[in-house]
Amino acid sequence: MLTLLGSLFLGLALSASPADARSSASGATPKCAAEALKILREHSPHGTRIYRATKDKKFFLWWIRCDDIPISLATSVHESVHVMSGHYLYRERSYFLPDQTWTKVRYKDLFHRGELLEEFGGRPRPGNIYDENYLLQTGNQDIVFILEEFNAYVHDLMVSRELSALIPEGTRVSSRDALANFMFYLKRYLKRAKLKHPKDWEAIAQDPEYTATIRLMWRQAEAELAKSCPVPQIGMRNQEILRDVYAPEDSEALLEVLGFAPALPKECVRPPADPRPEPEPPVPLAPGTEI
Ligand SMILES: [Zn+2]
Repeated sequence: MLTLLGSLFLGLALSASPADARSSASGATPKCAAEALKILREHSPHGTRIYRATKDKKFFLWWIRCDDIPISLATSVHESVHVMSGHYLYRERSYFLPDQTWTKVRYKDLFHRGELLEEFGGRPRPGNIYDENYLLQTGNQDIVFILEEFNAYVHDLMVSRELSALIPEGTRVSSRDALANFMFYLKRYLKRAKLKHPKDWEAIAQDPEYTATIRLMWRQAEAELAKSCPVPQIGMRNQEILRDVYAPEDSEALLEVLGFAPALPKECVRPPADPRPEPEPPVPLAPGTEI
């Protein structure tokens, strides 16, 4: 079975600059750009909205791979959302949400997300490329950037779902795994804040901008999971990850911030009688590969 990963920007520093630099360095618009945009227009209302809202069309188009248009379009949307959202203004970060509203938080330099590796024995979990890239390689970022990726991956999943009919038969991509991983990181980050970093915990739990942002993002993620879970080809090991996200253990801090109980959408609950095995784990990519 051919395995592909959804959008995962290796080594992305989560500001516009590295991607911008790569875009302008290449300067090339792919030959299939017109075809890709036609596909986007015809099949992906959300992707089309993001394309229209993106100021730098060349940047959007640069991510398209002609041999893999549907999935690379989801990556274009993911990266363009980073650029739209990623501006600093008086140390605030704004996020453009999937429902096309904005939310923001103030940057407070809280503990780094890489610390979450301690919960997995100090190293990425075997076969988990997200741990490898977001906790190990770019782990020196705090909750602001967990939320940044969380949000980008909801957009990414929306577009993957809209384009899923075009994904070649026999292929699975990891779009839903990516979002599920970031839901898990957020849950564990809040737990760790509460237990090990009381000042950071207070800085999050007592800040209405943070709590509102987390609530909004979580609700929109669950709404998208409900729509996407019936589409098997856009998830790989997501069942396993979602089990951890929705396990009652370690959920006290998340519950406190959300103010409501997280609920796995019924569409994501696999019937117990279903004997389908979990898909194969994703194939690690060569360093520097953009997916
Ligand atoms: Zn990203």
